[in-house]
Amino acid sequence: MADIYQSLLSSSVGRKFLKTVSLPVPVDLERHSQAQTSFITGNVLVGGPANGRLADIISSTLADSNAQVQVAQDSPAKDAFDKSAAKAAVKITAIDPTAEAAKFKGLVFDGTGIENSSQLRSLYDFFHPVMKKIQNNGRLVVLGVQPESCKDPAQQIAQRALEGFVRTLAKEVGKKGSVAQLVYVAKGAEKQAESALRFFLSPRSAFVDGQIVRIGKAKFDTTDFNWNQPLKDKVVLVTGASRGIGEAIANTMARDGAKVVCLDIPAAEADLERVASEIGGASLALDITDPEAPAKIADYFKKEFDGLDVIIHNAGVTRDKTIGGMPEHFWDMVIDINLSSEERINAALLDGDVLNDGGRIVCVSSMSGVAGNFGQSNYATSKAGVIGMVDAFAPILAKRNITINAVAPGFIETQMTAAMPMATREAGRRLNSLKQGGQPVDVAEAIGFFASPASAGATGNTIRVCGQNLIGA
Ligand code: NAD
Repeated sequence: MADIYQSLLSSSVGRKFLKTVSLPVPVDLERHSQAQTSFITGNVLVGGPANGRLADIISSTLADSNAQVQVAQDSPAKDAFDKSAAKAAVKITAIDPTAEAAKFKGLVFDGTGIENSSQLRSLYDFFHPVMKKIQNNGRLVVLGVQPESCKDPAQQIAQRALEGFVRTLAKEVGKKGSVAQLVYVAKGAEKQAESALRFFLSPRSAFVDGQIVRIGKAKFDTTDFNWNQPLKDKVVLVTGASRGIGEAIANTMARDGAKVVCLDIPAAEADLERVASEIGGASLALDITDPEAPAKIADYFKKEFDGLDVIIHNAGVTRDKTIGGMPEHFWDMVIDINLSSEERINAALLDGDVLNDGGRIVCVSSMSGVAGNFGQSNYATSKAGVIGMVDAFAPILAKRNITINAVAPGFIETQMTAAMPMATREAGRRLNSLKQGGQPVDVAEAIGFFASPASAGATGNTIRVCGQNLIGA
């Protein structure tokens, strides 16, 4: 059936009609383009309580953008930002945020100085005057300290409270196509926050909303890092790369400078070769459940590239049926493709020292793995297992400076979702804070964030790429 809602949205008369009958009219989301010279442009208001730790990294990160950095003239953090501005050679203008003409593309709140619940008032003081002054496609970032690492219960409680605040901010700004995130930065990991700041302030994070990321200590030094080609000379393997999200991941990794090897089943070889040749990459036609696949992959990368820098476990299938009516081969196939084969491949790459020190493992989970989904017991189990794999391996791999993270997509516009019945598809699309489905590139950009050498401090995270979908939120 024709997608009536979608066609109404594509004409100005249709959009007017939807507004009149109070139906959601989503904002067109800005996405990264290669022509863009700055990760954020426009006014960015910074602030927080007086004793935050992150003024230096916020200022030096913004110094490398076209943003006009501003601080409220009565902000308790004004002195800290003035000092850091001098160090970072960035101009920070003191402004009256309540002035009628004030407009903001970004808001960055350093909440690391919040030590107890009464100091949560600083959130109100910073955000209240400016919430109606955020532009479309705005970016809001709150920074805090991992609650589990806090020095006492009062601080732990207050830092944990930031989650509820940020998830609500995201819901309140979604109608403008704007997104909000919380980044917990461990003590001593201040410099490692740069990669997250750049990602969450940029159009690359268009469909990531209401998420929480933890950044820990790491050795990576970003001096002279090429932020436009973060994966330059890195060897990246993408599974399930012949179409859909996998194709977008392969394109995005190549755009970011990587040598990409695209893997898919032999039956998809024609499409696989097309994707690989379009990006100047290589192809590997292989079924990842083949018992020989882990050894074949390990041998290939040892021989061709003397190692692998990044593996992206994207290949996945669904075979939906309620558990009572599910044939056993549906169960076995989904668990094997989506989870067990990834464990076996990781083992071969790690045991054979094929994944280089400083390497990256990025897995594609799913909203179903977070929240469960009717008729998807096999799929939800496999995708929750992927999150478990990230949790289990993050501390083990940290010794080799290898990170492991996952992205959990929500409703993404692909062949798979285009084939859904219209009512289910419309519900999937609109039940999120941005009132629209995401694009495959949105998943790819989040993967690019974790794959970057500059994201050395990010490990053990699962972030949803779902526009803050209500399911499992
Ligand atoms: P898709 O079906 O278009 O692509 C999946 C690819 O994996 C296909 O090219 C397929 O041939 C390949 N594949 C399957 N079994 C394989 C095997 N045994 N060996 C090698 N390759 C194999 O699906 P998609 O929508 O692009 O999904 C990509 C990933 O994102 C999957 O892991 C999926 O579970 C996940 N995901 C998708 C959505 C969405 O809305 N599309 C939402 C959440 C999660």
